[in-house]
Amino acid sequence: MTAIAAVRCGRLQLKSSLCKLQNWSSSSLLSSRSFSDSASVTTESQKQQIQEASPPPIRVGFTESAGRGVFATRSIKSGELVHTAKPIVSHPSFSSLQNHNVCYFCLKKISSQHAVSFCSSQCRDQAQAFYDIERKVSWAAFDDYCRNKGLKYPHLVKRLACMVISGVASADCLDILQPASLSSEMLYEPYLLQVNNLLRDCFTLTCPVLTKKWYTNVLARIRINAFRVELACGSYEDLLSSAVACVNSEAAIGNAVYLLPSLYNHDCDPNTHIIWIENVDARLKALRDIDEGEELRICYIDASMDHNARQALLSAGFGFQCCCLRCLSGD
Ligand SMILES: [Zn+2]
Ligand SMILES: [Zn+2]
Repeated sequence: MTAIAAVRCGRLQLKSSLCKLQNWSSSSLLSSRSFSDSASVTTESQKQQIQEASPPPIRVGFTESAGRGVFATRSIKSGELVHTAKPIVSHPSFSSLQNHNVCYFCLKKISSQHAVSFCSSQCRDQAQAFYDIERKVSWAAFDDYCRNKGLKYPHLVKRLACMVISGVASADCLDILQPASLSSEMLYEPYLLQVNNLLRDCFTLTCPVLTKKWYTNVLARIRINAFRVELACGSYEDLLSSAVACVNSEAAIGNAVYLLPSLYNHDCDPNTHIIWIENVDARLKALRDIDEGEELRICYIDASMDHNARQALLSAGFGFQCCCLRCLSGD
């Protein structure tokens, strides 16, 4: 599970209302461009700018068996960038924080003396509001607990709570990713209660919307919709260090939750994949030619695993039996 670029940490759920999706194409969560700092613009990147500036060739609709899904509105060529997406919320991994090597906001690789650093004044500005809230609080007990238990997602909840308190995010911004149901196991896991208590303890200032129920539901949604963010290997050295990192299970620079990428269904032989080139901005790329009207699917797990291993992992981690063509063929 560690040797792939994108691992979905949970299965997307398909029962929330579609109405909020109607404006997704104008949402700021879809990044239209992320390369304003490039000094010289080549024809290729100009082409890419035009491609990224136009509406993505996709629509959200219903599938026959898996609820909501993403469909092509025109034919898409193999290798084409379908769209990019900015996260709703993201957070660096433990190791990235420890090594001081990513931007605290966009997860771009940097080298710094401090655990919390920013790659640019733009990132600093964008983080200012929630970071001002975060800095007022002592997180030692919360951080220690999460580190000892190896919990990654509570940090996304912590950041989202700071974003809500500072007014840059609404308390219900993840509702569209709502799980179909929260099992009692999910709701009453001891660590969840402890995380809730620690988070609430951290905020001495009261925020009426951040109830115990809010924390529980947000953590549950984040757990099933978060992506582990791993930068794509850009060079041979990167490939080598990445291989080592994969062995150490520390390849991830952070975790993030997105809106549109969470609507993609799973396939063990996907036609689309999600990659990260320089920061947390996700890039959805076509793996082969896709016809107009065809559903775009990504693989939530390591596609190189055999049939039984894939089914076991999808069932245990995501709660469904995969019926994709590859699985049906017995491969
Ligand atoms: Zn940054
Ligand atoms: Zn399958």
